[in-house]
Amino acid sequence: MKRKILAVYPGSFDPPTNGHLNIVKRTLQLFPKLVIAITQNVHKTPLFSLKERLQLLKKITSNLDNVEVISFSGLLVDYLKVVDAFVVIRGLRVFSDFERELQMALINRKLNKNIETVFLIPDHSYTFLSSSAVKELAMFGTNVSEFVPKYVEIALKKRIYCNLK
Ligand code: ADP
Repeated sequence: MKRKILAVYPGSFDPPTNGHLNIVKRTLQLFPKLVIAITQNVHKTPLFSLKERLQLLKKITSNLDNVEVISFSGLLVDYLKVVDAFVVIRGLRVFSDFERELQMALINRKLNKNIETVFLIPDHSYTFLSSSAVKELAMFGTNVSEFVPKYVEIALKKRIYCNLK
């Protein structure tokens, strides 16, 4: 019998947006189970801690079956080995994403030749959306309710208000 393939969607998710959720839902149409794996991005100082992002993602995916949210530090390939997975999900929004994503996919394949990166394209209404844009808009007091789930919007407001105090 063919085993059920576990897909892993890694990312910073600082914060998670409706674009990320769109990719999650598309993944569930293709794979029976998904792990959202929150990474420590060594190049970025996050607005939300790993623990907070874990809580946000758990909350906004609580209505979806077959989704697990975890966080990890270290290399993705090492995490994949631990959970015996080889499919990595990444989102492609615009052409400029492609270069970095291709590089990462090839590095991961170099580290483990069995790893397959699956690129999914979100609904076109999310192609301009990024966590950085959402943070920037929120910091300048713009309403971001169109771009993130309500729970994330509230967390953003609280964090920005506390940081300003
Ligand atoms: P990272 O810092 O690892 O790129 P992100 O949280 O910014 O983490 O993104 C995680 C993945 O989700 C990346 O593959 C990114 O291209 C994708 N992604 C981010 N925003 C969107 C969006 N609006 N639509 C589709 N994919 C997205």
